[in-house]
Amino acid sequence: MGRKFVVVGNWKMNGDMKQINEIVNNLKKGPLDPNVEVVIGVPAIYLAYVKSIVPDTIGVAAQNCWKVPKGAFTGEISPAMIKDVGADWVILGHSKRRTLFGEKDDLIAQKVAHAIESGLKVIACIGETLDEREAGKTEEVVFRQTKALLPAIGSNWDKVVLAYECVWAIGTGKSATPQQVQDVHASLRNWLSTNVSADVAAKVRIQYGGSVTGATAKELAACPDTDGFIVGAASLKPEFVDIVNATQ
Ligand code: PEP
Repeated sequence: MGRKFVVVGNWKMNGDMKQINEIVNNLKKGPLDPNVEVVIGVPAIYLAYVKSIVPDTIGVAAQNCWKVPKGAFTGEISPAMIKDVGADWVILGHSKRRTLFGEKDDLIAQKVAHAIESGLKVIACIGETLDEREAGKTEEVVFRQTKALLPAIGSNWDKVVLAYECVWAIGTGKSATPQQVQDVHASLRNWLSTNVSADVAAKVRIQYGGSVTGATAKELAACPDTDGFIVGAASLKPEFVDIVNATQ
């Protein structure tokens, strides 16, 4: 179907100059599968530096942004600023933004809309908590979160990667099983086919996120509806290269 595998490293609030140099040197050494798109999600303060030292083949993402170009929004950064330092992606709707910082579907949608209109590509995160999964609400939650994004994305689905992250698997060391991932990705594609179009459903890339490691990446990558990963803890380690190369 021609969906290019895309692996995003979400460093979260980790790294200093020394560690960043080590991570980037490790990526440069690779070797990284040239058929895989690689993006690193960097703390805002290091975006310009990282952009200046990574090869152009590696995309650089901010981990958040605000919903307007500039103004009295102390502590925020805008898509225009992210672009100005050469980065071209932003991660939005991450579960930590939703839970720790109270971001709701409508705010996330506003951010997605502004990021896209500013020329950024978006990794849009969705996913259920453990309580929601145990209550049998996984699909309901994931569909609701995706539905909220539809007006924001409009016809710009080529600028968006959907990141399905089980909140209960993020940072816990407990990954979802390949079957659990495949089930959600397949029903999400089905939902997109009904609610957006068959074309978008076939073309949009859906990543899995939640404790992916070098040891688990290959079997997760074998799921037919998984087109990549968003990786937290392991993106700071040399095994990130193995995750990028999981489809080899
Ligand atoms: C994340 O924070 O997006 C993530 C998937 O983290 P981890 O891989 O550490 O679970």
